[in-house]
Amino acid sequence: MTDADLIVLDQVNKRYGDLHVLRNVSLRVRRGEVVVIIGPSGAGKSTLCRAINRLETIDSGTITVDGTPLPEEGRALARLRAEVGMVFQSFNLFAHKTVLDNVVLGQVHVLGKPRAAAEATARALLERVGIGAQAAKFPAQLSGGQQQRVAIARALAMEPKVILFDEPTSALDPEMVNEVLDVMTSLAREGMTMVVVTHEMGFARRAADRVVFMADGEIVEQAGPETFFGSPSSQRAQSFLDKIL
Ligand code: ADP
Ligand code: MG
Repeated sequence: MTDADLIVLDQVNKRYGDLHVLRNVSLRVRRGEVVVIIGPSGAGKSTLCRAINRLETIDSGTITVDGTPLPEEGRALARLRAEVGMVFQSFNLFAHKTVLDNVVLGQVHVLGKPRAAAEATARALLERVGIGAQAAKFPAQLSGGQQQRVAIARALAMEPKVILFDEPTSALDPEMVNEVLDVMTSLAREGMTMVVVTHEMGFARRAADRVVFMADGEIVEQAGPETFFGSPSSQRAQSFLDKIL
């Protein structure tokens, strides 16, 4: 690896019983890069994200984040989870905490920040994602698009080196998709390293530095968005694009 590489997967394999869900997956994500992963349902996209955040173990191969192999447990694992933010389709907010507390708590408990400083950071981040006025509410009082923006603010509060987004807009009503994609697009422009699993091809064209196409547990091809959408080199990518575009 070079200093530019933030995440390196080398020959990663993962099986669930007889199902081989990641097959010799090798992938490098450079600092500041936006990698968009697309592919049919069941391709292994979520498993790949979860492996990078060590929410899943792998059977063979290696994954390093910023030069360090993934830790097994304990403090090192907590530190990794802070460095590798994750935003899920289902938001996963703390339902019984206010929006502000959702963004404050990790800063206090994981980063060890004083409450006042954590609150100041949280308020600034909520402003940045356009929901400063919602700080005192509970998640259920917000729209799906607003809740997902809280989840992004919460991930940012941990000062991550990279954020993984697993279909962040798939659970949203159509009119809320863009407010979330707009926040993600600004993050991308500001230089955040991002790995994004999505079916939003407009976002992929606009924001991706590289598109990675997965099918049946394999990375079938990867290319810049112009090349990928203009002339995919594999039949599988071509037929996937024919179905969705
Ligand atoms: P994608 O996100 O691309 O739709 P996933 O990574 O969720 O794909 O799943 C890849 C394959 O692994 C699918 O066939 C799925 O059913 C299977 N799978 C995912 N998680 C589990 C699990 N915990 N146990 C067994 N099979 C699983
Ligand atoms: Mg998935």
